[in-house]
Amino acid sequence: MAAALVPVGLGGWLLWQGVSGAQDSGGSDAGKGETATATATPSGSGSAADSPSAEPSGTDGPSSGKPSGDASTSSSTPSPSPKPSTSPSPSPSGTTPRTGPLKGKVVVIDPGHNPRNRDHPTQIARQVDVGTHRKECDTTGTATNAGYSEAAFNLDLAHRLRKLLEEQGATVKLTQDNDRPYGPCIDERARIGNEAKADAVVSLHADGSSAGNRGFHVILPGKVKAGAADTSAIVAPSRELGERIAGGFVRRTGNAPSNYIGGGTGLDVRKDLGGLNLSKVPKVFIECGNMRDADDAAQLTNGTWRQKAARGISEGIAGFLKG
Ligand SMILES: [Zn+2]
Repeated sequence: MAAALVPVGLGGWLLWQGVSGAQDSGGSDAGKGETATATATPSGSGSAADSPSAEPSGTDGPSSGKPSGDASTSSSTPSPSPKPSTSPSPSPSGTTPRTGPLKGKVVVIDPGHNPRNRDHPTQIARQVDVGTHRKECDTTGTATNAGYSEAAFNLDLAHRLRKLLEEQGATVKLTQDNDRPYGPCIDERARIGNEAKADAVVSLHADGSSAGNRGFHVILPGKVKAGAADTSAIVAPSRELGERIAGGFVRRTGNAPSNYIGGGTGLDVRKDLGGLNLSKVPKVFIECGNMRDADDAAQLTNGTWRQKAARGISEGIAGFLKG
């Protein structure tokens, strides 16, 4: 228990040795369903998702102002504004180099939920066909007890991740950038990755589980074939992608894998997520931590930590793309 064994494989893996001893409270609540999924949180039910007004419209939280680790690679780009790197919604490709080890690679980042979903309960409750079954278009996501929403977290992390990937030459597309009133629906999120012919897609989330449940996990697509869902071609590459992301996440954050899902591996396989079932390109979800646990929440709301998380995820993606 002191040391969780992070499964070895495909280069990026490592043994995780008890960095923070608090991770051992033998989790057993797996399967409660309180995960990234669209079904995770009671949509529209005003759960903690609508607490105070802690989120400044879904972008930079209070602590994200520092551009940590932003050593710029754009040596000779005269930037029009004095501070290009702190903008919460930088232009997707404006100041980034189109060279680098990931040149020619397409990455789709899917920031889970949408800060404004909560204002559109009817629209996001619409049922969509995900091949295996029908489920809600989207959900509100969770929030910390203090009211920092998962949707805001996901977007902030997406911006950080986009920057890191673009600096390496990748072409990056977000499924949403707080630029639409709600959604997109989970089927459209999958379609965006497919139509971009993405080399890798990562859906960013944070969980809303019980206090005491801690740590991250990566969700991999299970093998499904029903209706428009056929994951047979993506199960294997998605696992490799997910393992590399998990490895990078451990390495950069020093955090242990989830103590309540995945048996210490940091990996979970699911067949109920429309965003995975409908994907035709390698795709995983990551639950970066549990917003309802005070210790995890302290990290999730910290901009420096989020930068480490983004770096870990970016290194996992880069390893997958270069591998
Ligand atoms: Zn989520």
